[in-house]
Amino acid sequence: MNDELDPLAKAHLDTLAVRAGQVRSHEGEHGEPIYTTSSYVFDSAAQAAARFSGDEDGNVYSRYTNPTVRTFQDRIAALEGGEAAVGTASGMAAILSTCMALLKSGDHVVCSRSVFGTTTVLFTKYLEKFGVSVDLVPLTDLSAWQAHIQASTKLLFLETPSNPICEVANIPKLAELAQAHNCLLVVDNCFCTPALQKPLALGADIVIHSATKYLDGQGRCLGGAVVGKKEPLNEVLGFIRTCGPTMSPFNAWVFLKGLETLRLRMEAHSSNALALAQWLEQHPKVEHVYYAGLPSHPGHELAKQQQTAFGGVLSFQVTGGKEAAWKVIDSTKILSVTANLGDVKTTIIHPATTTHGRLSDDDKKAAKITDNLIRIAVGIENIDDIKDDIDRGLALL
Ligand SMILES: *Cc1c(COP(=O)(O)O)cnc(C)c1O
Repeated sequence: MNDELDPLAKAHLDTLAVRAGQVRSHEGEHGEPIYTTSSYVFDSAAQAAARFSGDEDGNVYSRYTNPTVRTFQDRIAALEGGEAAVGTASGMAAILSTCMALLKSGDHVVCSRSVFGTTTVLFTKYLEKFGVSVDLVPLTDLSAWQAHIQASTKLLFLETPSNPICEVANIPKLAELAQAHNCLLVVDNCFCTPALQKPLALGADIVIHSATKYLDGQGRCLGGAVVGKKEPLNEVLGFIRTCGPTMSPFNAWVFLKGLETLRLRMEAHSSNALALAQWLEQHPKVEHVYYAGLPSHPGHELAKQQQTAFGGVLSFQVTGGKEAAWKVIDSTKILSVTANLGDVKTTIIHPATTTHGRLSDDDKKAAKITDNLIRIAVGIENIDDIKDDIDRGLALL
């Protein structure tokens, strides 16, 4: 559509977040409707035939298309600046569908060591069974990425900033590397969301989301998305239509409502996290704080170039070991002790015995997951209440 036909063509993120993708039915509803239907009726046998053959666009079955899911897809595509998007049943379904659509036996993937743990299991346990090999590399070591690329490499996969120690990948440099070797750069943008970082504009080919996190923002539903150019996205859509990890219309509607407040929430998460990081950094019972918003963080300058703020996740080491970390966690009375993140409620967790508990001692050391490390996904409660709740345990150390 040209600019004259599409009034949103030049719209800003805040406007797209509220407006993009909506199609009103003949009822003229203001809110986005939830289309709870598995199938669709046709005007005639001829129309049914045309829909099935693909000669006519339109709905056939909700494993293929659903108007509520399509509205979510169009909105997240607009926010990320992608040509197309597909919704999936979860974030993992988004990653799996991307891999199943774009990889075949014999292909090779280079993946950051510091991705969501289940993503690593997907690559190393399940995709390897089907003849896809993977090498894991340190996120910020460009020469390691380069050294592991082979003739058969098809995908480079990463998250930035990483979980839990907020390392920052150089997206434009990795995009150059991917392009030079004819492979696709896939960025899981779960931690920043398009409100803070747009990987496609920085050169990435595909963006992945766990919509379960900040896109929903209130911990209600599981879902995911894949965003990018039409060509690879058509393949991903084909896999989803065939194999069924489809997003439910109800969840799509929850994510649409979440997207409407995305920028406001991400700003609140980011400003709370920065204030908390600054407070923790000068706390006598805290040894080290990992947050890319702090000038002391090695990724600070790069994060400033790629992101408009630093996000809601930080981690810190307390003085002492596991007992000290557990004491801080167990002394909280307001924060939620859970591994989830991307919620308006602040969450606190001990990575070494939970999210990263599976890692060997050597791998934990390489990933800087020490026994005294605590991760916080900072919510939007009042910052003083968050500090006070963490200080209950710190004061006992
Ligand atoms: C949670 C998460 C996923 C997986 O998403 P689900 O919706 O739980 O399947 C993938 N990547 C990152 C960065 C995550 O935090």
